[in-house]
Amino acid sequence: MNSVRVVVLADNCASARAARGEHGLSYSIEIGGRRALFDTGQGLVLAENAQALGLDLGAVETIALSHGHYDHTGGLPVVLAAARAPVTVHLHPDALQPKYNGTRAIGIPPAARDALAGPNIRLVQSRGPGEVAPGLFLTGEIPRPHPEEALAEIFHLDPDGQSVDPLLDDQSLYFDTDQGVVVLLGCAHAGVVHVLEHVQTLTDHRPIRAVLGGMHLGAATPARLEWVIGHLPRLAPPLLVPMHCTGPRAAAALWTAFPAACRPGGAGAVFDF
Ligand SMILES: [Zn+2]
Ligand SMILES: [Zn+2]
Repeated sequence: MNSVRVVVLADNCASARAARGEHGLSYSIEIGGRRALFDTGQGLVLAENAQALGLDLGAVETIALSHGHYDHTGGLPVVLAAARAPVTVHLHPDALQPKYNGTRAIGIPPAARDALAGPNIRLVQSRGPGEVAPGLFLTGEIPRPHPEEALAEIFHLDPDGQSVDPLLDDQSLYFDTDQGVVVLLGCAHAGVVHVLEHVQTLTDHRPIRAVLGGMHLGAATPARLEWVIGHLPRLAPPLLVPMHCTGPRAAAALWTAFPAACRPGGAGAVFDF
């Protein structure tokens, strides 16, 4: 199987000398000689971090979006302005809905919406799973059978808080390696255990080799945290990289429960598979 390189382009923390942090998440994935991005962060640090890390944003052919929050989509104009060839952008249609945290708009920012309507874009909307580049897959909507892992934080589709956003657009990215599947999370609003169970279904129960990304457990109750940590050993990822919105209490609990598996993430972190 091909080797795959994942570089964290944006995260809440930075771990390379010249990289900077922001509240956001973006990964570069080099697979089969092609470059894809999973999410684009807010866009505050994307161009600088790419330059500092020696990554050519102009070579990006594919962008997959985990969901329609600003901290994952705001960097779209930066990437699309740098692109030398048309870029294919994959997203769930609900990512385009207006999204609010209280009265604050947290959906795809206006400049990123404009960029998505540009002439150098091929927009692919899908609710189901699919291959976005050779060997690179989006999960599509995540089934959520466990009530223990219901949405950890409630956002809305309107500023008056009338309709709850079920965040059906939340999806993760994965690729297979000879030692198992690597899963890249956006915010895992659907729940990290739900995500991993769905990936196992999609891959005919391949072992999970690594889980990187945001787990959105900052507002999780101790009971939920305990439930998640209780379910992870069964899924047994030998590499666990909590980033972005995992939250300090949850990250500390994960590092304590799985000291051999946990590694730091942060902008500039490089993972070779
Ligand atoms: Zn989010
Ligand atoms: Zn986020």
